Amino acid sequence: MLKILKFLITRTRFLLAGIGLIILLGVLFESIIGNNNLQIVSNIAAQLGLVKPDNETDADLNNSKIGKLIDGRPVVIIDPGHGGSDGGTVAGGALEKELNLEVANLVGKKLTKAQVNVKFTRGSDLKVNLSERSKLANEYPGALFVSIHHNASTVPEAHGIEIYYAQSKPNSVMFSQRQYFKLGKNDSFSDHRGKLLAGHVQYLLCSMTGAKDRGIRDSRLAMTRWVSCPSILIECGFLSNAKECSNLINSAYREKLSAGIAAGVLKYLKMVDADPYYGTSIKANKSAQIAKLQSENSGL
Ligand SMILES: [Zn+2]
Repeated sequence: MLKILKFLITRTRFLLAGIGLIILLGVLFESIIGNNNLQIVSNIAAQLGLVKPDNETDADLNNSKIGKLIDGRPVVIIDPGHGGSDGGTVAGGALEKELNLEVANLVGKKLTKAQVNVKFTRGSDLKVNLSERSKLANEYPGALFVSIHHNASTVPEAHGIEIYYAQSKPNSVMFSQRQYFKLGKNDSFSDHRGKLLAGHVQYLLCSMTGAKDRGIRDSRLAMTRWVSCPSILIECGFLSNAKECSNLINSAYREKLSAGIAAGVLKYLKMVDADPYYGTSIKANKSAQIAKLQSENSGL
């Protein structure tokens, strides 16, 4: 009985000592971590990405599209040419606006499967002005823009695939590009991204379909020059050529077409993933600046 009593007294002592220690630590913590200190801890956590700073809301994060990917995924804008009252080319019983939309949807599905965030300038048979299309595209300066069309010619023999890009763009578009790359007033900038995107897509598209390669072409079309991100316009083939038209209206061939376009886009995205300045002169500029600074410093 005495043993049990002693044991209980010993346990209670330890318990009381523990409670006392917790109270003491609580008082010390309150006096050391005042409001200011808590703010510093909160700021450090924000910098480490553990919590958002008080002044940054989810809406701000979603609205600041410049330099950011959506949900961490790249954005590709697919633009099915024509629509609504604008049917585009009509030849061989085929209507261009319909084929454009069908190919665009297939490309969209393939890219979505590959974790790309896909946007469409039109998802149905709607007439959308060229300026509305480029306006939508310019909301995403970090995206890629792919316009899909089908060709026609008065020469019935003409056939094959060609892709357009614009080497020079209007000053307002160049200004947005410079903003996107956070360039200073005196930083020079040259942009070959559209040409490179066109090259990757053309190569894989022709390889996968076996279509004639008519090359990539520098042309200041509305959809290539008004859009600030790398932008291309694909002419998938000639509806005016009987043999090619029979391919283009065939669903198995459209699968190949869309697979080739998606593969080219993914190839380009892989290059950008490895080098965010891929296709621009910025990296060379920065290296030159660093080399200049180093040589200036070594002369001191
Ligand atoms: Zn067209």
